[in-house]
Amino acid sequence: MYDTLTSTYTFSCPIHGETHVCLSRFRRLERLPGAQHPAVYRVEFACGCGGEHPGLVSHDDLDWAPLGLHDETKFVNLMTSKVEAVAAELSDVAAMRIKAGEWPWSFFCWPEERPRPVYPSAFKLLAPTVSGDRVGLAVRCPVCGKVSVNLVSRAHVDVPFVNDREVGVVEHVFGHDAAASVEEFRAELWSESFDARRLGLE
Ligand SMILES: [Zn+2]
Ligand SMILES: [Zn+2]
Repeated sequence: MYDTLTSTYTFSCPIHGETHVCLSRFRRLERLPGAQHPAVYRVEFACGCGGEHPGLVSHDDLDWAPLGLHDETKFVNLMTSKVEAVAAELSDVAAMRIKAGEWPWSFFCWPEERPRPVYPSAFKLLAPTVSGDRVGLAVRCPVCGKVSVNLVSRAHVDVPFVNDREVGVVEHVFGHDAAASVEEFRAELWSESFDARRLGLE
């Protein structure tokens, strides 16, 4: 489902059969109702074929797999010459970094006027800029429950522990559902102006 080496999720595409997309190509995430363990998210993603398709991602795949916690790929450890699982190595590194106060993902909560750590399951809507190098990101704050919209780099979304030093913030509290559709979100997003905020989490 998630490939740690390419940082991509595998979904099915009606044209290509199978496609691999990174997190910043997700357009909409929605937790399915019910008490599945782990929870399941319905996503819509922008596919390489030009279309947008639905897919399902488990909570584990969304939040933990990018940190390498579910990877079963084996590699040869050059220090010990033993075959080991990548997951153990990566999860150690991730755990150490989190303990040291680094966060895999973060965003700027506008209602609280402060940066917050976050996991991808808190992302609601994503829309790329026309140039494609930045992404408008609607996040539901895990602490205050309000939706904020940040303008970030693709790497900020796709690569754990890569956080933009400064992000664009829309000075506007979005409704509880942020927007009914990706199209509305896009239209609303690009009609707003962005203010720069620093994302230092210290
Ligand atoms: Zn497709
Ligand atoms: Zn908040």
